[in-house]
Amino acid sequence: MNEKITIGKLAKDPGCLAEYDPNAMEYKDALKWIRQFIEPVKETQIIPIRDSLCRVLSEDIYSPIDVPNYDNSAMDGFAFYKTKENLPTTYEVIGSNLAGQSSNEKVLPGQAIQIMTGARIPNGANTVIPIELVSSEGNKISVNKSISIGGNIRKIGEDVKKGELILKRGRYIRASEIGLLASLGLPKISVYRQIKVAFFSTGDEVVEVGNSLKVGQVYDSNNHTIGAMLERIGADIINLKIISDDKKELKKTLLSIADKVDVIITSGGVSVGAADFMKEVLNEIGEVLFWKLAIKPGRPLAYGKINQTHYFGLPGNPVASMVSFYQIVQPQMKALMGEVDYELPPLFSVKTERAIFKKPGRMEFQRGILFQNNDEWWVKPTGQQGSAILSSMSQANCFIVMEIDESTIDSGGIVKVQLMEGFI
Ligand code: AMP
Ligand code: MG
Repeated sequence: MNEKITIGKLAKDPGCLAEYDPNAMEYKDALKWIRQFIEPVKETQIIPIRDSLCRVLSEDIYSPIDVPNYDNSAMDGFAFYKTKENLPTTYEVIGSNLAGQSSNEKVLPGQAIQIMTGARIPNGANTVIPIELVSSEGNKISVNKSISIGGNIRKIGEDVKKGELILKRGRYIRASEIGLLASLGLPKISVYRQIKVAFFSTGDEVVEVGNSLKVGQVYDSNNHTIGAMLERIGADIINLKIISDDKKELKKTLLSIADKVDVIITSGGVSVGAADFMKEVLNEIGEVLFWKLAIKPGRPLAYGKINQTHYFGLPGNPVASMVSFYQIVQPQMKALMGEVDYELPPLFSVKTERAIFKKPGRMEFQRGILFQNNDEWWVKPTGQQGSAILSSMSQANCFIVMEIDESTIDSGGIVKVQLMEGFI
């Protein structure tokens, strides 16, 4: 991709690039186009690991220790020295090792030490036999089952070796990374700063929750879905609520916030209706591309910049704004946060219980319900698939992803699904 392309150039002369077709941009192309304008944040801060959930590592982490840092037992049982010949079969129990204790007792051939999970393997022992596999009489145990030499011992460094590169810069931090960092004894880490995102809804008909609703009005759900999705990925949010379809107001709002945040996200007003002013306003104060994306739901989408601040204009329809946030904006936010190689959840194939209707021409993200039947996973579409049917997003646990050229799939046919769990 050409490095010298700027949004300004594209906005003024879309034809300057053969691949850029504002009339029907394909999903994957839109992702790539926007991505080239995203410069990850550079500022870092050092924070306690417990505060690092949903942040992005800004340093490579090498382990300062071996994990575990001593050979220990994986089972409750008896530690002893096992020979190839499996002899003897009876051992004298000379003591016990509990987890957290560090006894120096030595086991001689023919002896055993009772040992608990996590306790250090005594000197002289090479194998642990689980308590369930021995019979005991007085201070003697008989080993009845064959067990391999070295069995049930967790070796030093088996999980992580001292000096090993364990997490790379650009890694998004989840509970498991926090746990891993704790297991290395690291109380603090360096992360990229949070991205700051301001967002608001547009529309004279849009009303804040908590007020009464007149005929012709609609509650502002986008503000809540967009805000929640931003919080899910760890953004620092500024909620500017609702701005009416008024050019002056829109302009004033955008200008007042632009230099205070990394990203501005709006919903509504990006298509071609009489009150869709975003294009006009943004052309005055920034550089913006308006796309007709070949996706459903979510055809209109705007991306641009107001000075250094990124701008995303999402469609007003609630499902369309969620889908375009999730499928297009979120990957860009992840890149901006410093996450390296973010990928949306993978697609996998399942059978559909009902026909899935589609015309070729647009990529579709229909809402589906994955369910199990006779040990097999199936999907069925939620009822209505309109871009205003927000209940479909709530019923769904996956997207049914249909490629641009695909058409209706009959019941029993194979479709691709993408899990929503944990992301929406
Ligand atoms: P627009 O993209 O502004 O033309 O809006 C498309 C449709 O989405 C219209 O039916 C709007 O009423 C509806 N809509 C726009 N913004 C919101 C919002 N914030 N919450 C819920 N519905 C909205
Ligand atoms: Mg509107």
